[in-house]
Amino acid sequence: MLFRSVDLREKAGKRKGDSSDDCGLVFCRDPKTESLAEFLDTDGLPFPGKLLQEGDPMYCFYSREEGKFITGKFKSKEAAYVDHVKLVSNDTATSHKNKAVISFRVPRNPSVGDKFASRAGQKGIASQKWPTEDLPWTSSGLFPDIVFNPHGFPSRMTIAMMIESMAGKSGAIHGKVHDATPFTFSEDPDNQAIDFFAKQLESAGYNYYGTETLYSGVSGVEMKAEIFFGIIHYQRLRHMVSDKFQVRSMGPIDCVTRQPVKGRKKGGGVRFGEMERDSLLSHGSTFLLQDRLFHGSDKSKCSICRTCGSFLSPRIEANLTLLQRDSAKPVCVLCGSSDAVDDFEVPFIFLHLVKELISINIKVKLGNSSR
Ligand SMILES: [Zn+2]
Repeated sequence: MLFRSVDLREKAGKRKGDSSDDCGLVFCRDPKTESLAEFLDTDGLPFPGKLLQEGDPMYCFYSREEGKFITGKFKSKEAAYVDHVKLVSNDTATSHKNKAVISFRVPRNPSVGDKFASRAGQKGIASQKWPTEDLPWTSSGLFPDIVFNPHGFPSRMTIAMMIESMAGKSGAIHGKVHDATPFTFSEDPDNQAIDFFAKQLESAGYNYYGTETLYSGVSGVEMKAEIFFGIIHYQRLRHMVSDKFQVRSMGPIDCVTRQPVKGRKKGGGVRFGEMERDSLLSHGSTFLLQDRLFHGSDKSKCSICRTCGSFLSPRIEANLTLLQRDSAKPVCVLCGSSDAVDDFEVPFIFLHLVKELISINIKVKLGNSSR
C-alpha cells in the first residue's frame, strides 16, 4: 500500500501553526481540460479502482489568487490502483476540506528474490519459481506451493512449525479450527502434540507422522523418500527485489568530481570503495582495477609540461580562430615552448585536487623518472 497526501494549505504556503481556514485553494477538476475526465472526478480527485501510471494526473485544484487550475501528477515509477480517497478537514469536521489522502494498491506478484517467512520466524528468499507441472505431486493431486529444505530445522529448532504443518493439515481435512494456546500439550507421553494431530491425520487416511509419497513432476516416477507435507501460514516480508535491484551502465555523474553518483534512486552505482580496491590489488587484477577506477569513472585529459612539471602552465594561445584552436598545440607559459607539452589522461578528481591546492598556494609538480 502506498499513501499520498495532498495538503492545500501547505501548497498555499501557510505556516504550520496558522489556523486560518480558507487557504484560497479548492479541489476541483479543470472543466476545460477534457483529458482530465478520464482520471479525475469533478471534485479533482481520482476514481477509486483506477490504474495510474507515472505521469497521469492524480489531483487537480483551483487557485483563486492565480485564477487557474493546477494539476498534480502521479510520480511513482510503478503503476498502482487507487484504493481509497479521503477528503480531510479538521478534527471536528468544521473547516474547509483542505487535505486529501489517497491510498494506492500496488500489484506485485511474488518473484524470485522476494522475502517470505513463516510464523516460526523461518525467513528466506525465494530462489526459484517452478512451473506447477514440474513440481512433485501427491497421490491426491496436490502439489506444493513452497519446497522447504529440511536443513533449516536442526539448528533453528522450530518444532512449532512442524506441529503447525500437521495441525494445519488435520484442520483442513476435518474442517476444524485448532486451539494454539501454549502449554496445552506437554512432554507427557499421553499428552503430546504430535500424537494428537497424528491420530487425526491417521483417521483421515494419511500417514501418522505427516509424510506423504510424492511423484516426480518431470518423470512421473514415485519418489523414494517420503516427504513431510502440510499447511503452514506464510507471509511476504517487505523486502522485495523490485525495491532493491540496482543496475548502472551509463548514467548521471557528480558535477564536482565527475565520478558516477551513488544511490539507487538517482540511477547511480554501487560504490567501489577502498576495500574493493584492496581486494583487486591482492588478486593482481590491475586491468580490472584501472577499468573501474579510471576508464569507467572520471577519466579526463590534460596537458602537462614535462620540463617544469606543471599542470597549469600549458595554455592554448588566445586570439585564435575556432579552426586554429582545434589544431593548436598548448604552449607552456613558464618555459615559453610547446616542445615538452604532452597530453595525459588523469582522473579528473586529481586535477580538482591540484587546483584546490593551488588555491592555498601549494604548487604541485609532476615528477618524471624517465628524464
Ligand atoms: Zn613548462
